[in-house]
Amino acid sequence: MFKFLSREPLHDPLASPVPGAVNEVKTTTCYMCACRCGIRVHLRDGELRYIDGNPNHPLNRGVICAKGSAGIMKQVSPARLTRPLLRKAGSERGAGEFEPISWERAFEILTARLAKIRATDPKKFALFTGRDQMQALTGLFARQFGTPNYAAHGGFCSVNMAAGMIYTIGGSFWEFGGPDLDRAKLFVMIGTAEDHHSNPMKIALSKFKRAGGRFISINPVRTGYSAIADEWIAIKPGTDGALLMALLHVLIAGDLIDHAFLKRFTNAPQLVVLDDGAREGLFAFDPNPDKGPPGDGRHPHNKLVWDAASGRVLNAYPEGIADGCDPALEGHYALDDGTKVAPSFQLLRERVASCTPEWAASITGIAADRIRRLALEMGETALQKAFELPIAWTDAWGKLRPTTQARPVAFHAMRGLAAHSNGFQTVRALAVLMSVLGTIDAPGGFRHKAPYPRHIVPNYRAFNSPEMIQPNTPLNAAPLGFPANPDELAINPDGSPIRIDHAFSWEHPLSAHGLMHNVITNAVKADPYRIDTLLIFMANMAWNSSMNTVAVREMLNRKDAQGEHMIPFLVPERDRRVRRPGAAGHHLPRAL
Ligand code: SF4
Repeated sequence: MFKFLSREPLHDPLASPVPGAVNEVKTTTCYMCACRCGIRVHLRDGELRYIDGNPNHPLNRGVICAKGSAGIMKQVSPARLTRPLLRKAGSERGAGEFEPISWERAFEILTARLAKIRATDPKKFALFTGRDQMQALTGLFARQFGTPNYAAHGGFCSVNMAAGMIYTIGGSFWEFGGPDLDRAKLFVMIGTAEDHHSNPMKIALSKFKRAGGRFISINPVRTGYSAIADEWIAIKPGTDGALLMALLHVLIAGDLIDHAFLKRFTNAPQLVVLDDGAREGLFAFDPNPDKGPPGDGRHPHNKLVWDAASGRVLNAYPEGIADGCDPALEGHYALDDGTKVAPSFQLLRERVASCTPEWAASITGIAADRIRRLALEMGETALQKAFELPIAWTDAWGKLRPTTQARPVAFHAMRGLAAHSNGFQTVRALAVLMSVLGTIDAPGGFRHKAPYPRHIVPNYRAFNSPEMIQPNTPLNAAPLGFPANPDELAINPDGSPIRIDHAFSWEHPLSAHGLMHNVITNAVKADPYRIDTLLIFMANMAWNSSMNTVAVREMLNRKDAQGEHMIPFLVPERDRRVRRPGAAGHHLPRAL
């Protein structure tokens, strides 16, 4: 019986509407974007009926977006491929003339082709994937095959967000960490579209706003997020870096910075060499060989600080963090051997000195006064609205702390900052801004998710030597990683790139996800060499190749002087047919 104003549902959503039918509900995670919401898949007599959100899933708690519920089409779409397709004999690539073949035949063709490549020159097989969420598996396949030519779609998307922040603070947004909106008072979202951390973000934002939090969205577009923000600040595309530098200018000039955090948990006080020469711009090291020679290892810990309390140079650890030491954030100093040095924070101060709000206003289109007010609001919220939680913890240096300091300014940013040629440095500026405010791993600010934060630089060494590519031999390193110095670049002795996409070369040294958008263009130009087989996994390469579908289709069909295609063998591998790029080669359903 319907109860007036009752919270109970009118009917059991899991009950069968058809008497006698066998109804099943399978729980899994959504595959329609990278948010990984929990879903329930409803079946009747084994047939898929609909998908809804799983109320018991901790991430989305039953919420599902339109894209997620449309996931049913991955199964029931008439365009779905159920059998491998082979280009008809005699038909031209691009004509879209295919015939279905058996799985056995598909395996036969691929096994013969790939075995030959693997036995001769494994790098002639390139495997590039889209937003597939299976990169642990696809990366392992490439590595076992022995090819370095593997990457995911990140280089074309938001990898600057991950790489810029991981290289600066050891973690990033989304799967690496996120804003603590349960305790934040001010939330600033920059360059974020609705598909970025979608449902979890929307649920958290709703709670945050109901609790009285203030939400500012900085975005060229009045997105759905911007529409519900307390303030939408429109910014010219690709200019966020200028805004962030101006915010740093105002915060540092006004001393609205978290001194204690900077001194203890960052390299802000560590001394940088100023003298001309090979060491200029690098951190100074203790010359004592017991502390390790300068630059020893990937994570040297023998850096130096200037102790303002005693007026002398000390090792950053453990002396520089000992009680009574006051590592300077400002000034210019000289080491015992006369080397001129300054704390890295001093260099930051000098770098942002000219980045005034007026300067940024002319680049971003945001009024100087608005930039100034935004910086003051961030600084005052972080420092003056800070509070302590009665949670004891032990810090990285073993000091027991009875309470936890909250810094209630949280940020979230994504592709709008990252997907520009200046994205890496823009994202680094954001990470520096968060560090200056002390909102890292603090309640109300940004909080890493385990296993982050990582070392800076993370301990994933990528493949970096041509000798590692050997016939019938797995690659003795991951195809992707985080180079820490020029010796870790994937280059030949003459400095030319080893990878087909030029990732980890002098041209693109920190391309942590590879550069799939370069693959077709480089392979067709034989730069640095020709490949034999390109397997495209869950990606639309024509669109992913700099969005110039017409030119990319022409490249895929281009032939050499002998009449052979520049990329001889193409295997687009998807769960449904992609009209134009899929017409180019052999086509396998995703189940392969
Ligand atoms: S946000 Fe939507 S598309 Fe993305 S995982 Fe969640 S339900 Fe699926």
